[in-house]
Amino acid sequence: MSLPSQQALSRTVVAIDGPSGSGKSSVSRGVAARLGLRYLDTGAQYRAMTYWMLQNKVDLGDPAAIAADAEAPAIVSGTDPAAPAISVDGHDVAVAIREADVTGAVSAVAAVPEVRARLIALQREIIGIGGIVVEGRDIASVVAPRADAKVFLTASEDARAARRNSENGGGAGTVAATRDALTRRDSIDNRTNALEATPGAVVVDATELTLEQVIEKVADIVIHAAQGPAPDAASQGVGLTR
Ligand code: C5P
Repeated sequence: MSLPSQQALSRTVVAIDGPSGSGKSSVSRGVAARLGLRYLDTGAQYRAMTYWMLQNKVDLGDPAAIAADAEAPAIVSGTDPAAPAISVDGHDVAVAIREADVTGAVSAVAAVPEVRARLIALQREIIGIGGIVVEGRDIASVVAPRADAKVFLTASEDARAARRNSENGGGAGTVAATRDALTRRDSIDNRTNALEATPGAVVVDATELTLEQVIEKVADIVIHAAQGPAPDAASQGVGLTR
């Protein structure tokens, strides 16, 4: 396969959606690094919003209270796949947003429409003219429905629980607990955004694949998409769909 021009890649938008533990972050960063694209972790933004709410003692059982503060935190996301960065009100929160208290509360915060509206606007601003891999739950369906490449990354529940457990440094005894927490979060998230492939997305099942194999597969999908349609179609103004 011939490589697309750097110019085509520099405008490409890649949407990678999927449930927790499917390996979205590692795959998205790997693909972005390989193709020289920027990278945006939208889950980290929902986590940053949640972190701020926890710090500021917002009642997370009260959607109206969450909505009232949705505009308050200053959330800044870095887009370098080699060093993903996120700050809230000027403080680096990359580590804090992975703590259990944030993970346990994030789905409730992400379900609030005012939170989604604010973060989706921020995400679209960062996406700009493209050249970016964006990972989340609603990227292909809501945030960037005209993305050039759409991937729905999934894996069996066992594989997802095992991956998340080893990321957390847990021993074999905690896989079952990790699996429970994961399915609980999926079922709440599923009410906000259906955890399924949007039409036009390529489903990649990572259950039996190594990280390297998944990156390879997704990079191929992106390269193919960035090559665009046949030259005669491009000359009629139906080129890249963004
Ligand atoms: O991907 P990650 O597990 O870090 O996402 C944390 C949470 O953020 C998800 O469980 C979900 O509630 C929310 N989220 C979302 N929409 C996205 C990305 C994440 O609602 N695009």
